[in-house]
Amino acid sequence: MSEGRITHWVGGKPWSGTAERRGDVYDPATGQVSAQVDFATADDVSSAVATAREAFPAWRDTSLSKRSGILFAFRELVREHRDELAALISAEHGKVRSDAAGEVARGLEVVEFACGIPHLLKGGFSENVSTRVDSYSIRQPLGVVAGITPFNFPAMVPMWMFPVAIATGNTFVLKPSEKDPSASVRLAELWREAGLPDGVFNVVHGDKVAVDSLLAHPDVRAVSFVGSTPIARYVYETATSHGKRVQALGGAKNHMLVLPDADLDLAADAAVSAGFGSAGERCMAISVVVAVEPVGDELVAKIKERVARLRVGPGTSPESEMGPLVTRQHRDKVASYLDGGVAEGATLAVDGRSHPLPEGDGFWLGPTVLDQVTPEMTCYRDEIFGPVLSVVRVPSYDAAMEVIADNPYGNGTAIFTNDGGAARRFQNEVEVGMIGVNVPIPVPMAYYSFGGWKASLFGDTHVHGTEGVHFYTRGKVVTARWLEPEHGGVNLGFPTNG
Ligand code: NAD
Repeated sequence: MSEGRITHWVGGKPWSGTAERRGDVYDPATGQVSAQVDFATADDVSSAVATAREAFPAWRDTSLSKRSGILFAFRELVREHRDELAALISAEHGKVRSDAAGEVARGLEVVEFACGIPHLLKGGFSENVSTRVDSYSIRQPLGVVAGITPFNFPAMVPMWMFPVAIATGNTFVLKPSEKDPSASVRLAELWREAGLPDGVFNVVHGDKVAVDSLLAHPDVRAVSFVGSTPIARYVYETATSHGKRVQALGGAKNHMLVLPDADLDLAADAAVSAGFGSAGERCMAISVVVAVEPVGDELVAKIKERVARLRVGPGTSPESEMGPLVTRQHRDKVASYLDGGVAEGATLAVDGRSHPLPEGDGFWLGPTVLDQVTPEMTCYRDEIFGPVLSVVRVPSYDAAMEVIADNPYGNGTAIFTNDGGAARRFQNEVEVGMIGVNVPIPVPMAYYSFGGWKASLFGDTHVHGTEGVHFYTRGKVVTARWLEPEHGGVNLGFPTNG
């Protein structure tokens, strides 16, 4: 990475490629361009894939203990450099440092999970399935696999993918978001320091051109994607039509259901933390509070009190609780939902435009609460992906469940209640992939798998955990007979046990 210019990482070193096009990277807190990132052409992507393909046979045959040794070393290096990684994330994404450090920590969990790869890849063995015949299963890597990731978690989301893909013996090409590309390059440097052979982990930067090249490339065996729903659907349809295995995680509209018996202080704390953390730019952010009456007025009052105290400022300041949005264009789009919501009949309970905000050209918008929102409104239907919390008021648990069921997304949801029976019924009935019970952001630990339902995921497997191991491997079953001297005889019958 040279000053002000961010290049690809291929074959264990920075690589400029053809560098025909570049994109601006901003510091969202100042609104200034901080660097330029190279955009890969189709030929650049082909070179990266060829490098990964060349590295595959040796990496696939590297022993499990050597592979896990490299993962342990990588884990130590990421831990050692977590503050530096957090600073890089904060500088390009805008999120506050503690939040950026949190994403590095959650990414590290997946590395730690992948350190146990010898155990995770163990197959089954059955002795004497037929006389003197044994049978066993093995799982093998796919080859070159690609990851395409969004701006909102520039370290954690790639780390949902590549530790597991690499541990299972694949080689990897990452196409990170062009909005905050530096963390992925720093992670590549740490892989090299950890002893990962050149070409096993590669990074190509860019936009649709790079993505499309990966989706169609005959040597890319599988694609993991995380981003918005329209692009997730496109990636799924395009890459599967080219014969690839695909997991494509999309957008979200996460509902937090508050029942009348809930602890409303706890619920208000949770709604504000999960609604405005990372300026609402989280796929697991709570964007809709569904208040079962009569709690609406009291809950909104408690949320308002807390929102008024939030400190919005640059991610570099330890005082800041919420940073800017990622780009000016995104800030303007998010802000358009404020007047738009009011025009459709919502009430602006808190107007983020009048919140105390830093001076200057940063991409600022304060926390906003839209009350009396209904499911027909655009501000309810769209994934706003910013610091705008909507409140939908309903008369009953059943009415709340209808709202959630009718929503096209199914990433995360939470229920706040002191009634164990209601919580149990909720987790049984709701059509959503990740459920919180009095926990607003129920992101699964690395040894479980992360993924939503409905328009929040295209494909069959969620990421990391055992589903991640399965996604990046193919199964084989071997049936073996070691012959004894008295064997023999032709038999045209179908093999049966005997
Ligand atoms: P995005 O869909 O715009 O971009 C994601 C990736 O796709 C980027 O690498 C981008 O370069 C690429 N891309 C963008 N447009 C493309 C196109 N037309 N053709 C091919 N590739 C294209 O998403 P984003 O704005 O970076 O991230 C925010 C979105 O990601 C939100 O919708 C959020 O909910 C979602 N997200 C989902 C999860 C999840 O786990 N489900 C996690 C994080 C983020």
